Amino acid sequence: MVSNESAEAEALREEVRAWLVENLPEKWGTPEYVAPELRSEEARELNRSFSKKLYDAGYIGFGLPKEYGGVERPAWERAIIREELARRGTPPTNAGLGRLVVETLMQWGTEEQKKKYIPGIISGQVNWIEGFSEPNAGSDLANVQTTAVRDGDEWIINGQKCWTSGWQGGEWGFLLCRTDLNAPRHRNLSFFLFDCSKPGFSRGPLRQMTGDAQYGELFFDDMRVPHENMVGEEGRGWYVAMTTLIAERGGGQVAAGSGETGSGTRGMQMVRSIGGVDNLIELAKKTKRYGKSFWDDNNFKHRIAQIAIENEARRVYGIRLGSIIRSGKASGNEAVMTKMSSTEQGKRRGDMLMEIIGAYSQLMRGDERAVDEGSHVQSMLGSRGTTIYMGSNEICRNILSERVLGLPRGN
Ligand SMILES: Cc1cc2nc3c(=O)[nH]c(=O)nc-3n(C[C@H](O)[C@H](O)[C@H](O)COP(=O)(O)OP(=O)(O)OC[C@H]3O[C@@H](n4cnc5c(N)ncnc54)[C@H](O)[C@@H]3O)c2cc1C
Repeated sequence: MVSNESAEAEALREEVRAWLVENLPEKWGTPEYVAPELRSEEARELNRSFSKKLYDAGYIGFGLPKEYGGVERPAWERAIIREELARRGTPPTNAGLGRLVVETLMQWGTEEQKKKYIPGIISGQVNWIEGFSEPNAGSDLANVQTTAVRDGDEWIINGQKCWTSGWQGGEWGFLLCRTDLNAPRHRNLSFFLFDCSKPGFSRGPLRQMTGDAQYGELFFDDMRVPHENMVGEEGRGWYVAMTTLIAERGGGQVAAGSGETGSGTRGMQMVRSIGGVDNLIELAKKTKRYGKSFWDDNNFKHRIAQIAIENEARRVYGIRLGSIIRSGKASGNEAVMTKMSSTEQGKRRGDMLMEIIGAYSQLMRGDERAVDEGSHVQSMLGSRGTTIYMGSNEICRNILSERVLGLPRGN
């Protein structure tokens, strides 16, 4: 193939490729590679150590100032690095929902908070969890009942959070609490960061239909959190949380599109494995119906192409979204569109996987007859929750209809 890249660009490509050969786990990408159990301590350790290597090589941590640990590189270098990492695939980074903390602190954090927390997140060393939802505060997040009461330089937290993604691995978390029992809705909340190793904090699993317990519950029983862990002003937590939600709804696209928070590799893996078309094509090519492969069916090919087109549009939009969020000018509506589009697509893609494997879709992981170890069924089942989290798609439609289309507010 004739390349029209500059010698500098080609040299960087070669450098990253060689680095990956040297640093990826042994047998990575081959059928002999045995991945650690998902969400196990071993998996977290692999992700943590690989993130460190990536960070030390200057391959993640882009788009943030140096004083917060950011890695400065020109856009063309970042693009090549991301492409090469995506090409081989890498173990995901270990930061959990830390990228949301980065965006939140960049807008609301003190200098001390930025310097203290951001480097550990962008180098994938500290894993974060989100404590927003409660049994009676999901769509109506402002109804949070967990309380924080001031006691000198500390706040005492009591309450329960639920549906916490990646609950087992969280080393630090962020949460929204009521700090004023008399103030009106939206002005009675404050936003805190907390250390999961401190007394008064405990957690447990919530099992979902895939059979996994990827989500959990968090319990706060007189847990003490220093005042310096409050982000933004007391009583302004709702507005701080909105920044977090905008970053969350922008989701993998922000990370994948811009690699801004250093979780770029995670974002890219999401694009490849969830929004991506690779395994859809692979499966369509190898599966036959009435003697013809799905890939030979032009109609099916068009549907896969449509997914690829949407991915590309979201990737480009994600780059723009990343800079809108960072400029502090995001209205929230931009990220809502990304969230709805990617999650609705995820469900459509899950259905296409089931269409290809047909009756085998009834066989789950653990059954030796399950296609590709049941991974497609897991993927389809997992896609169902995505239209609920980060604010359900019904709530997102309400936001778009009222704030973008100017339709009257429903009851
Ligand atoms: C896979 C998954 C991961 C999650 N991870 C986290 C996490 O890490 N941290 C965290 O804090 N939370 C997390 N959540 C919680 C998530 O944010 C809530 O589930 C979500 O906001 C919906 O709240 P709810 O479950 O209480 O449903 P409800 O608010 O009770 O809603 C029930 C149904 O009613 C609909 N509905 C409610 N109000 C309206 C309305 N005004 N108009 C139209 N329809 C409406 C909803 O769309 C939904 O279909 C996660 C959820 C899931 C499914």
